[in-house]
Amino acid sequence: MSDTAVLSRKADFPGLVTADGEPWHYLDTAASAQKPQVVVDAMSRALGVDYATVHRGVYGRSAQMTLGYESARRRVAEFIGAKSENEVVFVRGATEAINLVAASWGMVNIGEGDRIVLSTLEHHSNIVPWQMVAERTGAQIDVCPLTEDGQIDLGALEAILTPRTKLVSLAHVSNVLGSVLDARAAADLAHSVGAKLMLDGCQAAPRMTLDMAAIDCDFYAFSGHKIYGPTGIGVLWAREEILDGMPPWQGGGAMIDRVTFEKTTYAPPPQRFEAGTPMITEAIALHAAIEYIDDMGVDQAYDHERRLARTLREALSAHNSIRLFGPEESAGIVSFAMEGVHPHDLGTILDEEHVAIRAGHHCAQPLMDHLGVPATARASFGLYSDESDIAALLRGIERTQRIFG
Ligand code: PMP
Repeated sequence: MSDTAVLSRKADFPGLVTADGEPWHYLDTAASAQKPQVVVDAMSRALGVDYATVHRGVYGRSAQMTLGYESARRRVAEFIGAKSENEVVFVRGATEAINLVAASWGMVNIGEGDRIVLSTLEHHSNIVPWQMVAERTGAQIDVCPLTEDGQIDLGALEAILTPRTKLVSLAHVSNVLGSVLDARAAADLAHSVGAKLMLDGCQAAPRMTLDMAAIDCDFYAFSGHKIYGPTGIGVLWAREEILDGMPPWQGGGAMIDRVTFEKTTYAPPPQRFEAGTPMITEAIALHAAIEYIDDMGVDQAYDHERRLARTLREALSAHNSIRLFGPEESAGIVSFAMEGVHPHDLGTILDEEHVAIRAGHHCAQPLMDHLGVPATARASFGLYSDESDIAALLRGIERTQRIFG
């Protein structure tokens, strides 16, 4: 993508300026992406002149909103190469998607002595729900190690798998290191022992073209707010035949077929997993976000962000006091530490320079333990990022170095 294309993209995002109208160098897209105006407008229309609830009303406005909500589901299905929109469950976010699979599929299909495989670099939301399943069922968790440069080690994964492994759940892209999993290879390995593969696609969905059939995983989760859409909505994709066999995890309105005090029967998926009034306006705004990034081309965004990550890594490696984490080739996410400077202090000084980075454990404490640091500084790019953001970050780092001597 040319710099001119990025500049026009920057103008699409009202959040990329400070209160004084100065450029705001937002390098925290891995935590949450800024929203283009079209998403803000779609949300505002859905909450305003178009608003009504879905699935129940006999009046025209409600029928229109139902069409909008269900058309968002179809658009998501198309975006990720799902076979059918019935494979798309709207949830609150990736965290809820993983908890849904753990509570529903996990509690039925995982038993005492079974094994669940995770990796060292997982986000807490892909660790804790499985620990809860393990505690309740007596299953065990195996942790797949990383290669030297911070990728999930597929050779080690193969060695860890056993016929008792019921589930492998891995990040498609690491939120700390930017490392990219060979998802198809992981799926083939999991399936070779009869296990299912769940992918945490939070950082992959905004960055690469997804095709559920080509990846051949069984469950895929991501959050709307990381793909330039609103908070409060996310997606769980699962194969239709797997969803069909899963019990509901929450009960209430909209997820039933027939209720009597003697017995309740449930709606088919995806409604079975969407109890209560759903995230109507969020789904409609998510639809707008997908149109926006599809229009730009997700692959182009991926190349663009990888190029920026390469440039930043190169510039940072010229500083002796900076330690870089993760592989040379990163999906637009660069984690680093400065000798003698706590990442929080760096983040605070950068904030004065209108540069926003993330400092902390990034909800990946086991990975921090593995790296031997309490926290890292992380710069992550989005489709609006450009060289001016890198230049501002480097200026801030140099100022920090001067302050800390
Ligand atoms: N997994 C990864 C890799 C993430 O980066 C995040 C968000 N930081 C999550 C899961 C959780 O996403 P959410 O908080 O939107 O549910």
